[in-house]
Amino acid sequence: MKERRALPAPGSLPPEFGGGLFLWVRRGAPLAVAVLAFTGAAFHAGGRGWWMLAGVGALAAAWPSFLRGDAFLRNRAAVMRQDCLWAHALRPLAQWLGHEDDWILSFCGHNNQRVREAFGGRRAKRALILLPHCIQMARCKAGILDDLQACYDCGLCSVGDYMNAALMHRWEGRITNRSHKAYREAREYRPDLVVAVSCTDRLLKGLTKMPEIPCYVIPLSLPHGMCVDTDFSVPHLFAAMETLVESRRPAAEIQPLRREGIA
Ligand code: SF4
Repeated sequence: MKERRALPAPGSLPPEFGGGLFLWVRRGAPLAVAVLAFTGAAFHAGGRGWWMLAGVGALAAAWPSFLRGDAFLRNRAAVMRQDCLWAHALRPLAQWLGHEDDWILSFCGHNNQRVREAFGGRRAKRALILLPHCIQMARCKAGILDDLQACYDCGLCSVGDYMNAALMHRWEGRITNRSHKAYREAREYRPDLVVAVSCTDRLLKGLTKMPEIPCYVIPLSLPHGMCVDTDFSVPHLFAAMETLVESRRPAAEIQPLRREGIA
């Protein structure tokens, strides 16, 4: 048996990435339309009814962006469907401007902020972690897809840290190599919160496909390009679990199985 390696400290949750941009657009655009419509109603008596209708419609479009906490959780599916429509509708423009990732990350940050507020006072009891298979080193032969404990914890990728923490804290998690498998696993487990790590494109896809499940999302970094030896902030994942999820067991109760070997 090897000596236990110290795990990264969880720390506190970092500020969310650029959530303000998405919110400004998502809330600001319909509110601006509402102001224009009501101004039109005030000055154009002939079409006042239509102006008023447009104004009320614009206010209704802006309303979901104000929902927070329990109200957000109760209406989550509808709110997320609308937010995802905005994120997808403006994605081509962001791409044209060269800020596609910033736009998606801003949407993710806005989503995360609302999830943090919703679970700040009442932590999740049944959380599920979803990780992509590409965090495993491409040359590693450990069969972690079938059995997480097949990892030798050699320290060359973040799987070892995750495995140790998941065993110690009894976190429920899945490492999958296909998005549709991850969605299926999530729906079967019926979590009250998903903490998901993925690239920006898949994070947007995941939030769109599972609007009914609250998801806290953490972006991958891609130092070697898409889907190869990707990386993410393990302390960020730990902080999200510590902050948003009810502890299931004292950390010292379970000792991770440590096997001799190399990747
Ligand atoms: S054995 Fe090493 S390289 Fe392979 S998954 Fe575990 S930590 Fe990563």
